[in-house]
Amino acid sequence: MKSCNTILRGTVISMDTDRRSYLNGYVAVEAGKIVGVGAAGECNFEGQETIGGDGHIVIPGLVNVHGHLVQGCIRGMADGTTFEERLFGFYYPMTGACDEERSYISSLPPILDLIRRGVTTTADDHFTHIHKRSIDGVLKAVRDAGMRCRMARLILSDPDNAPDGFREDLDVGLAETERIKAEWENDHTTVTASTIGITYCTPDEFKEIWQWTVDNDRQFDVHAPSVLDTRYLKERRGWERGSFEWMDHEGILGPNVIAAHAQNLRPGEADLISKCGAHIALVPDMEQVLGLVEFDARSFLDAGVTCGIGLDGPVVAYGHDLWTALRAFLTAQRLGDQHRKQMKDSDKQWTGYEMLFGSAELALELATIGGAKALNMDDKIGSLEVGKDADIVLIDRRGETQLSPPAALIPNLIYGNGPSAEAIARVMVRGETVVENGEHVTLDRLDAIRQSDTLQETLLDEVDARKFVRMRSPYNWVDA
Ligand SMILES: [Zn+2]
Repeated sequence: MKSCNTILRGTVISMDTDRRSYLNGYVAVEAGKIVGVGAAGECNFEGQETIGGDGHIVIPGLVNVHGHLVQGCIRGMADGTTFEERLFGFYYPMTGACDEERSYISSLPPILDLIRRGVTTTADDHFTHIHKRSIDGVLKAVRDAGMRCRMARLILSDPDNAPDGFREDLDVGLAETERIKAEWENDHTTVTASTIGITYCTPDEFKEIWQWTVDNDRQFDVHAPSVLDTRYLKERRGWERGSFEWMDHEGILGPNVIAAHAQNLRPGEADLISKCGAHIALVPDMEQVLGLVEFDARSFLDAGVTCGIGLDGPVVAYGHDLWTALRAFLTAQRLGDQHRKQMKDSDKQWTGYEMLFGSAELALELATIGGAKALNMDDKIGSLEVGKDADIVLIDRRGETQLSPPAALIPNLIYGNGPSAEAIARVMVRGETVVENGEHVTLDRLDAIRQSDTLQETLLDEVDARKFVRMRSPYNWVDA
């Protein structure tokens, strides 16, 4: 028998290349690494601590490939507003008013949403730099939560797309990125430079930021097509084809590019993305909330494109729950498939032999090994394999009626929007326990909520955004 720090027992979903899954399995952890995975009967480890057992599920830590954590202070406020109202009415003003301390407070509840439900790695795009150290507040909150983060510092310079104060000279933005990289990069955190989308700076600046990511061996993370591409691409770039086609034309579209959303593409763009080796951050929950009936992930998956699943910012990612996004990935695709079918031949009869797109298992793959590959982190995380870092989630399903009985365990996990937070018995990042029995081991959840509530109240008055609260509500709200 070999000794190790911790043994986790239960149904082990490894997500290794062969997708080996053990109905009665174990994972052994030593010094932050996975040192053994397999059937319980073959376990030759003795743990200082053994957890789990009957009624438990062991999965790799989940990976959220797209987000904007600083938007915690405007959580859900997009509902009932137009794009223009929210972007310029409260979105830029409220997040822009967040200095380091406020950004910490603003991002903590969405970070707790993630980690208490088993998300151990998040990608974040930060683009509100009126206070240059706003991004430091987010990074500090991520660090205090013990999560992994791939942070992108986005530089905006276009006068029509970003209000005064949010625009930066490229030199300033890149120098700040270097500062943050030097101050914050460690085993948990990497920092890169990017911009929101191809119309948020000049083509030369866009290329220069991309070149920085190539020179620094980092990802280039853009929204593509971004909302404003449809408005400005032709006007600003004289370009009548797609956003991905433009990036390819400029020699930018390659393996270090990860593009968020990637919907409403032109014919052939998915194959182009595949050929160039770029990655896609699907954001199905938000697309569905915004009514995107054409959602399509299938064209990427069929073309062999590396895809992960992300949430986007809490202003539109209601609930900020990656499990909901996994369900949405399946439902959005199926609605999209149905929409496309009806647009083509509306009177084709249902036969009963149709297979719907995908499966709960596919969704869980995209949230684990898929997300790890999408962020170029699959050498370290994304699966339970010997030699990888011990980013592990232990679920105790003994009190979870929605997970009983267990024959369809993974479908019940995905379509049932995951386990409750209370059923998350343990979350480990590099072997360190960060969540135990549904609670973060060091962060005070009630205090995080109190501070976030107070911050929102302050910001609403400070930037005159209170008029957007319950703006079109048909209810009669009494405040006396
Ligand atoms: Zn986004």
